[in-house]
Amino acid sequence: MEKIKLLIIGSGPAGYTAAIYASRANLSPVLYEGIEPGGQLTTTTQIENFPGYPEGVDGPQMMADIRRQAERFGADIRFGIVTEVDFSQRPFRVKVDGEHEIEAESVIVATGASAKYLGLPSETKYRGQGVSACATCDGFFYRKKDVAVVGGGDTACEEATYLASLCRQVYLIVRKPFLRASKAMQERVFATPNIKVMFEHNTVEVLGDDSGVTGARLRRNDGEETTIAIDGFFLAIGHHPNTELFAGQLELDAEGYIVTEPGTSRTSVEGVFAAGDVKDPSYRQAITAAGSGCIAALDCERFLLK
Ligand code: NDP
Repeated sequence: MEKIKLLIIGSGPAGYTAAIYASRANLSPVLYEGIEPGGQLTTTTQIENFPGYPEGVDGPQMMADIRRQAERFGADIRFGIVTEVDFSQRPFRVKVDGEHEIEAESVIVATGASAKYLGLPSETKYRGQGVSACATCDGFFYRKKDVAVVGGGDTACEEATYLASLCRQVYLIVRKPFLRASKAMQERVFATPNIKVMFEHNTVEVLGDDSGVTGARLRRNDGEETTIAIDGFFLAIGHHPNTELFAGQLELDAEGYIVTEPGTSRTSVEGVFAAGDVKDPSYRQAITAAGSGCIAALDCERFLLK
């Protein structure tokens, strides 16, 4: 049984930033990277809105840089998936890859969230080449172009409105005959002249060529098919937090996000902290996740000092 002071689970900007702060505070953190080392940003291309990179930076490159920064101060970053946790008593017990057992005095959970996709093979094929689940991240690349957003909730409406300020034409593809978004959000969508809401439509196929996405084939609920010409295809059909492992151990909200004490990273279990998208259904940005990783490390340091 390995005994450590601090275990960090997850390797996006939240986990790596927590590792930088914790290693500089001599907490000797051990970080397990999980299924997708580097997290969601490794699936994006250019990041232009993270302060400090005036020319922009590649998502995977930025994650590699933050990782290296944490290692420079001694963070022990390992490949491996945490498969079991027991937070019922301290020290906390976890199992990695179903076999390696660890006892940790404190834990920071930064397992992130995953965007939902439709599951079409053509959508997977053009992911990163016109298919994106983050308009705030990638919308800028589609200035004066035509794009589609899938979804009828607040995120879809917010992203469609944002894209409409940059793009020529935005198609909002909604599978029901109504929007689920709040009234205010709906009114903004309907008041934006370059958003065309296509109710009762589902995407059958994302079309493309070597340059990336060129269109989408849609089917109306009555069976009629249409093709739209677009350069960008944005999914906004929700996210799911990666918290399956913590059900029954930590308090989760109705959508499965970890509940933290407002303004802190403290979870329902003393000594377990949460950072990044796993506790944040609203902002979901690299910079907010990194900030939240910093908060978790500071909260954890104070807890261990007590
Ligand atoms: P939601 O779950 O609210 O909405 C998801 C949307 O995607 C729904 O319209 C749903 O359709 C549609 N959808 C789901 N699966 C598919 C599919 N396979 N094919 C086509 N459409 C699909 O997610 P959001 O991300 O929009 O919002 C999450 C939470 O965050 C909500 O509580 C929301 O209010 C909140 N939020 C608030 C904001 C704000 O206040 N500024 C901004 C953004 C989010 P259907 O309706 O048919 O199920």
